[in-house]
This record gives sequence, C-alpha cells and structure tokens, in this order.
Amino acid sequence: MAPHVNILKGDPDSLRECARLLESNELVAVPTETVYGLAGNALSIEAVRKIFSVKGRPLIDPLITHFKSADSAFSHVHAPEQAQVLASRFWPGPLTLVLEKMPDIPDLVTAGLNSVAIRVPNQPLMLALLQQLDFPLAAPSANPFGYVSPTRPEHVAQTLGPKIGAILDGGSCQHGLESTILDLREPQAPRLLRPGPICADEIETTLGCKVHTAKKNASGAAQTSPGQLTQHYSPRTQMELVAHGQLTSPPSTGEAFVLQKKPIDPSPNGLYWLSEDGDLKEVARNLFNLIQKLDGMQLARIVVEAAPPEGIGAAINDRLHRAAARS
Ligand code: AMP
Ligand code: MG
Repeated sequence: MAPHVNILKGDPDSLRECARLLESNELVAVPTETVYGLAGNALSIEAVRKIFSVKGRPLIDPLITHFKSADSAFSHVHAPEQAQVLASRFWPGPLTLVLEKMPDIPDLVTAGLNSVAIRVPNQPLMLALLQQLDFPLAAPSANPFGYVSPTRPEHVAQTLGPKIGAILDGGSCQHGLESTILDLREPQAPRLLRPGPICADEIETTLGCKVHTAKKNASGAAQTSPGQLTQHYSPRTQMELVAHGQLTSPPSTGEAFVLQKKPIDPSPNGLYWLSEDGDLKEVARNLFNLIQKLDGMQLARIVVEAAPPEGIGAAINDRLHRAAARS
C-alpha cells in the first residue's frame, strides 16, 4: 500500500485542521510565494526539533520564522528604523530580515545565534493560516536537506509526505525561489546573505544606502553565513552548469540540456527550456520543478545554461551553482 499522505485543499475546514495539527506540535507543509515550507510552531522546542529531524537538517543551520504581520514580527526582535522601512515596502513578500532576537525565540530556531531571520509571507492560504494561530511558524523548505526545493505539493508528497501531518495545497509557488535574506544587524551597512526574488538594487533604492554582499576570504572564496552551503538544492543526477549562451550543440543520448528560453529549433531530443522568451521570472518559477522532473528520468547528465546575471538572474545562478557543486 502507498504510504499515507494527507493533502488538504485550502477550504476553511482544511485550514482549521492545519491549525489543529500545528497547535499539537505536528508539522504541516505550507505553500508560500517562494517555495513550500515545512512549518511548525516556532515557539515550541518539540515542534522545532521535529523540523530538523524530518528534514535531516543539521542543528547548526538556523530556520526562518514566519509571522502574520510586521507588528507581530517586530514584537520578537529589536527592529531599527531601516527594518520598518523595508517591511512597509516589501512585506508581505519574499524578503527575510536578520535582526537581534528577543529571548522568547528558542535558541534551537536560531542555531544558538542571538539573531533571528524573520519575514511575512505573501501567500493567501499561508497568511490565513498564520492568522488562526497565536504563534509564528518556523519553516525551512519542505524537502530533505540538500535536495532541490519543492515548488508544488507533489514535490513534498514524494519526499516528506508520510512523515508529516498534512500538506496544505496552494498549487505552484509564485516565485519558485527562496526569499532574499538581508542581515540588518548593522542597519547602516546591510548585508545580502542570500540573493532572491527581491534584488539588492531595489533594497538600495528603498534604504538609500549600499547593500554589501558576502565578504571574500583570503583565498577569494565567499565567506558563508550559517547554513549557506556551497552544495545545496542538488538533484541526484549529475548536473553541470555552462555560461549563458554556450549551450549550442544538441544533447547526446541520456543527456538533458536545459536552456533559459525556447530555442529556434526545439526538435532535438533531450532539449528543455525554462521560459518561452527568456523572462527571468518565468525561469525562476519553473526551475526547481523542471530539475525535479529531469531527476526522475534516470539520465546520465543534466546540463543547464546559466541565466544572464541581471535582476533575479543573480538568484537563479546562485541556486544553479550550488545545485551543480559536488563537495
Ligand atoms: P531556508 O534554508 O530557506 O530555510 O533558509 C534558512 C537560511 O536562512 C539559513 O540556512 C541561513 O543561511 C539563513 N539564516 C537563518 N537564520 C539566520 C540568522 N540568524 N543569521 C544568519 N542567517 C540566517
Ligand atoms: Mg532550504
């Protein structure tokens, strides 16, 4: 018999069932506008422990906490004026802020750091669920640690389905890439920890100051923030990344070539594309879904063309670099 997976549609009874599970310290996979999250009560050690264990995530990798409103989020952190300005411009939305935490956020959520990563998600079912709860939700992506992120309910069902209380079905995720993470602990010198759907230049325009990116160490490698691993988002199949515009020959048998946009001649076997016309938002939305589909096809190799580096292309290439890395 197939293992039981409890997939709930977003009607009021389903939302109540999700709230009941979360109140009992069970985990629910929730839709967000970025990717599906594996959610549990952020203020409950028991629930947070389950998140780490179900994902197989190391305890040194801190979780993002999701709130129903900016007011609710800012009651758990020390929020400088810059945080308020960004929240009124980008929340609800795919921007995560790292700020100094209040003691009620458990150390387990933050991997022992005195800072916490917070955001207000912009997905109607997720917001409706948060409004029914009197606690925030810690939610990393709802995939086994290190694997490709889930952007559809069936991605969660195939991997974590039987291990969790329910999956709340919100269809495909709007952005398809994890949130932008900004460290605001030094409010005059904000630091981009992870590129995402909200670009650094939008943040710079809003704050009127420069956004720094991860510092380089002596050997030239980017210094990583907690949990930012070189290898991540990886399919089981061998994956390679080639520069934009360099994927010109047809694939051999057993290979898949993934282009940024539909080619003039789409007929060769093994050719796939992430958008019709190179729209990078469409590329982001389709990326993890296509990689998971190809990963199920027993191929010898997946070769992906990098995105042009402008706008959300930086976040797409960040994920592709990590997915293709082998440590
Ligand atoms: P995700 O894996 O999408 O749940 O994103 C969580 C990531 O947010 C972690 O892997 C860290 O890179 C980052 N993060 C979370 N909390 C903090 C924090 N307090 N300080 C710095 N980075 C954080
Ligand atoms: Mg993740």
